[in-house]
Amino acid sequence: MKTQAFPYKEIAPNTYEIGEFDCASMFLLVGDEKAMLIDTGMGIGDLKGFIGKLTDKPLLVCYTHNHIDHVGGAGAFENAYIHPNDMALFSEGGGIGLSVEKRRFDIGFHAERTKSVYPYNLDEDLSEWGPCPPLSPLADEQVIDLGGRKVTAYHCPGHTPGCMAFLDAATRVLFLGDALNCNLLLGGGAPGTPRFVSIERALATLKRIQSLGERYDHYYNGHYDYRALGEPLGADVLPDAITVCEQIVAGTAQVEYKPPALPFLPTRPSATVGRTRITFNPDGVHEPQP
Ligand SMILES: [Zn+2]
Repeated sequence: MKTQAFPYKEIAPNTYEIGEFDCASMFLLVGDEKAMLIDTGMGIGDLKGFIGKLTDKPLLVCYTHNHIDHVGGAGAFENAYIHPNDMALFSEGGGIGLSVEKRRFDIGFHAERTKSVYPYNLDEDLSEWGPCPPLSPLADEQVIDLGGRKVTAYHCPGHTPGCMAFLDAATRVLFLGDALNCNLLLGGGAPGTPRFVSIERALATLKRIQSLGERYDHYYNGHYDYRALGEPLGADVLPDAITVCEQIVAGTAQVEYKPPALPFLPTRPSATVGRTRITFNPDGVHEPQP
């Protein structure tokens, strides 16, 4: 039997952060009629069975973006809501690949980083990615009604072109995926490709998240490596990320060439303010001129 021993915390009433063994975070929001699952991790163990112990409501599976550590478990679920910009490479983990070998490599990287022992056996708990569930589009400002609880989706291009954030009015929590964190990777796609997002565009996204500030008290990103499971991401991260992007756009950032945060990524310039580091493509700072 695949493991269901996921660590989790109830962060607000009927609202759970579920940890995928230091690889990623998933969030479960339970309304009166439906439940919403935000992201499905790498696909370790039996997430669906675990969720069945928390709620029996019909599940809407919504994705913050199409990367391997957020859509790796998608094959176990019947539906998938995602922004159209991130649909194209959904079944390929954003182009990185979703093979057992690729996911095993990434999971091993995280386990090595934390030096922890986890209650999984990857020979059993990691299987071939199932058939891709039907993809349904998420639009900017789309309201997802869970029954007595409404969640608004916001398009947040930056980390990927189809990044989405989800604002839960009931708990005043904003769920950000990888749209913001202490080690923010921007500009992954080369200019002229469909994956391209300029730093100027990403900066506009961060300012929009800031402009929504009256509607949320806390934000959570899609990993718990710069915060504890169940604890929100620090309020310093958003203004510092904005400052870094403004400096990159202005050409005044203190640029470093440090080893990449993940071993399979190319070495790219980064700049840091406080504890927030942004890695970017120097050829993709400005919006292309028409
Ligand atoms: Zn990502």
